[in-house]
Amino acid sequence: MDHTMLIGGERTNGTGGTRLDALNPYTGTAFGTFPDATEADVAAAVHAAATTFAATWSGTPGLERARLLHNLADLLDENAEALGRLESQDTGKLVRETTGQVRFAARNYRFFAGCADKLSGRTIPMDSDALFDYTLREPVGVAALITAWNSPMQLLANKLAPALAAGNCVVIKPSEHASMSTLALIDIVERAGFPPGVINIVTGAATAGSALTADPRLGRISFTGGVATGQAIAAAAARTLVPVTLELGGKSPNIVFDDADLDRAITGAVAGIFAAGGQTCIAGSRLLVQRTVADRVAEAVAERARTIRLGDPLDPETQIGPLANPPHHARVTGMIEAAAGAGARMLAGEGPAEGLFVRPTVFAGVDNSMTIAREEVFGPVLAVIPFDDEDEAVAIANDSEYGLASGLWTRDLARAHRVARRLVAGTVWVNTYRTSAAQAPFGGVRRSGYGRERGVEALDEYLRTKNVMIDLSDDTRDPFAMRT
Ligand code: NDP
Repeated sequence: MDHTMLIGGERTNGTGGTRLDALNPYTGTAFGTFPDATEADVAAAVHAAATTFAATWSGTPGLERARLLHNLADLLDENAEALGRLESQDTGKLVRETTGQVRFAARNYRFFAGCADKLSGRTIPMDSDALFDYTLREPVGVAALITAWNSPMQLLANKLAPALAAGNCVVIKPSEHASMSTLALIDIVERAGFPPGVINIVTGAATAGSALTADPRLGRISFTGGVATGQAIAAAAARTLVPVTLELGGKSPNIVFDDADLDRAITGAVAGIFAAGGQTCIAGSRLLVQRTVADRVAEAVAERARTIRLGDPLDPETQIGPLANPPHHARVTGMIEAAAGAGARMLAGEGPAEGLFVRPTVFAGVDNSMTIAREEVFGPVLAVIPFDDEDEAVAIANDSEYGLASGLWTRDLARAHRVARRLVAGTVWVNTYRTSAAQAPFGGVRRSGYGRERGVEALDEYLRTKNVMIDLSDDTRDPFAMRT
């Protein structure tokens, strides 16, 4: 399976002649190749997007953009299983999750299709009737969309759907560790009817990404990935003054109060950390449990962890696949060893696992100052931290450099609202975890990044406001006086 890139409507291998292997982390073998874009290829993609925007796309009505987005959503739904299988091979994530993510991506395109013909400014009352003032919300032009390897289709939909709905052209750059589903999208983009140059896709290693983010012709960079890369991109964008949206990592607290429905909370804790093998930014990797029930909850989660089935991600019975690539596996296993060495008590996860697998791991007796409670693992590793009361739970939850997601489990309605307000995070889930909606905004604070995806808030990332002021009078006032 050898893919090309898409630049200005042309399928191309690029100018460099170098190709990269797509590796299946379960089999350890390459199942396809894709081009390693040169700086010239990236520049050509930005040029195609910029010229298409100026020549035609900026004048395309919202209703037409909506039609194309609906076409894209229909085709994603029709091809969800094939795309899900492909993404599962590329990332090692379960096919039932990747297929679900393609369908959720389709839901995102439909949501933003509904927004495309409803982008309006406002009229602004002036101090004088002689002045008439209004705003226009205009597309930023060219948006660079850079995604991480863990959920390529879903992460792309979070960006591409609002970017297109807002009327922009785009250059997409997926991760070199998982480019295949994004490249398979080329067929779908063409069949959906998008004009050449509106959607451009380049692939390659970090050189392609850094060439893209250094380009001054961009109107927005939207990035999902690690904190260090996010910082490098923000620094590059500081030179061009291109605005940036950053969706970065997390160390999210999942808080269980002793008045909660503990069975549901335990299932929520398992879903929070072990779904997708913990390779999600929103992983509930710190389980804060009220001391009165802490041992019981920790042991129940550990018991569930011990029975999780590791295996082929394409097998519907499998519950956790391998980690996505060898360097990542080495990092996760290193963090587990370090946590055990630092005194955390391993309740589940003992023993070696084959290949790139990591056994679902539960550490009890964790103090929030330990590295395992502070750094993102991005794997199936849970730190259980006890607390005594609500104030302490909030203090521990907020004692983190990150602020992406959080969860809390309680039957006390007043406590649910009170704690939700006090948590420093972009998302608070109450009596659920890891539930997503196209309509609800998503994003982080602190080192988890800035800007929002999904929800109508996402449109703001891809629009800018122009103010238009009209003087309706026969003004012959002093030209040197302050005019209001
Ligand atoms: P990376 O930061 O390594 O890479 C993300 C993307 O950036 C890839 O496409 C990568 O390309 C590209 N890239 C790398 N270097 C540069 C550069 N200098 N300039 C421009 N682009 C560059 O992240 P991972 O792919 O390892 O993903 C894991 C991280 O993503 C975790 O920290 C996780 O928390 C975070 N994440 C955040 C989410 C959120 O919504 N907040 C959701 C999912 C993941 P290449 O791979 O080719 O090097």
